[in-house]
Amino acid sequence: MLYGKHTHEKDEYLSPIFGASAERHDLPKYRLAQHSLAPREADRLVRDELLDEGNSRLNLATFCQTYMEPEAVELMKDTLEKNAIDKSEYPRTAEIENRCVNIIANLWHAADTEKFTGTSTIGSSEACMLGGLAMKFAWRKRAQANGLDLNAHRPNLVISAGYQVCWEKFCVYWDIDMHVVPMDPQHMSLDVDHVLDYVDDYTIGIVGILGITYTGQYDDLARLDAVVEAYNRRTTYPVYIHVDAASGGFYTPFIDPQLIWDFRLKNVISINASGHKYGLVYPGVGWVIWRDQQYLPEELVFKVSYLGGELPTMAINFSHSASQLIGQYYNFIRFGVDGYREIQQKTHDVAHYLAKALAKIGEFTLINDGRQLPLLCYRLTDRPDREWTLYDLSDRLLMHGWQVPTYPLPQNLQEQVIQRIVVRADFGMNMAHDFIDDLTQAIAELNQAHIVFHADDTPKKYGFTH
Ligand SMILES: *Cc1c(COP(=O)(O)O)cnc(C)c1O
Repeated sequence: MLYGKHTHEKDEYLSPIFGASAERHDLPKYRLAQHSLAPREADRLVRDELLDEGNSRLNLATFCQTYMEPEAVELMKDTLEKNAIDKSEYPRTAEIENRCVNIIANLWHAADTEKFTGTSTIGSSEACMLGGLAMKFAWRKRAQANGLDLNAHRPNLVISAGYQVCWEKFCVYWDIDMHVVPMDPQHMSLDVDHVLDYVDDYTIGIVGILGITYTGQYDDLARLDAVVEAYNRRTTYPVYIHVDAASGGFYTPFIDPQLIWDFRLKNVISINASGHKYGLVYPGVGWVIWRDQQYLPEELVFKVSYLGGELPTMAINFSHSASQLIGQYYNFIRFGVDGYREIQQKTHDVAHYLAKALAKIGEFTLINDGRQLPLLCYRLTDRPDREWTLYDLSDRLLMHGWQVPTYPLPQNLQEQVIQRIVVRADFGMNMAHDFIDDLTQAIAELNQAHIVFHADDTPKKYGFTH
């Protein structure tokens, strides 16, 4: 968020109310106080401020991890001060990052015949920026070699309307036109039959999404690859695919290993994923891997010193803590393939249970039943005598502490207001039962309510949806 000047007329004061008389200070909220506080007082005050915040475990809106094992947390706490960019001070940490890149490239089937390269990032947003920049620079080289007039049009990126906001940011920040392939009720992911209508000589690449944030559905990447392959055979301006696997990158390989979406597809040149989604690490860590060094233009790579030598890096941020990287490596060695599969399978099973339970309630039409990403999306089934909306249901659920967002689908589908539940590793079957009980009770209450709050049912965003 961008914050601005606090406009209250006079400063508000925070007064500690616990403990010793030494705590009887007044503390201005919006400017630095003159005096210092004892650690205990400061701790108390900050904890008090955070007291009425949502409980992250009950937040069914987010894909981000809300649980890690105590050992992982200790390890991460103990490594908070390590600066991930300082490869020469922390060469072991650099080696851990290197191992993670190798583990992930292997998971995504990078070919032995090519030289993959990749890096950790703060999250998928940074990873998408890097993937997008590499596509932009590589396109420009190809276009220049072909003699294309680079000033005649802005370069463009092709993506379905189900994109996550980071791609809009990428296009705005780096001055790229976004060619959005619309979604409609028949095409709830990238419309592969029409994707080429949006491609031209100025296209830097096509983004396929392995798990659309809104609905959890996968773009059909194998078909996209086939379409792109046929196109590239007949053009001098080839296009390539970046897969935004923010959610699917650490989920699909374990739950649906037969699905071919990754470097097994010839035209997929780069992939990103969020370590802090189904990679099971607390925010923020992400990853981006290129199938071969040739797809990452040299100008984008900067050298940092490393044990008397130099190490290539690509990042938008410079300093940040290495503890998330170390948490990621902990998870990799702790869980292995079997462990990740078991955890994700349990998550998948909980999503299936919820899908069945939601269908049984009789009020909802499921748009996504957790078959792909373990998330449930549903709208209200038409029933003329129902006075409440999904927005009212979100409110009611919040009374039990559950945060469940309600929002309209993107462009062309915005008349459909849906609710979404993201199932994560720490949402066990026990919690799913509790949730269904609370949901059933909330609906019973709404059916009897005399005043419903959201009588105006124009689509609006309600809750966190990214
Ligand atoms: C969450 C998400 C992102 C952004 O990821 P962060 O790790 O939060 O920066 C990008 N794309 C998709 C498809 C996502 O689901």
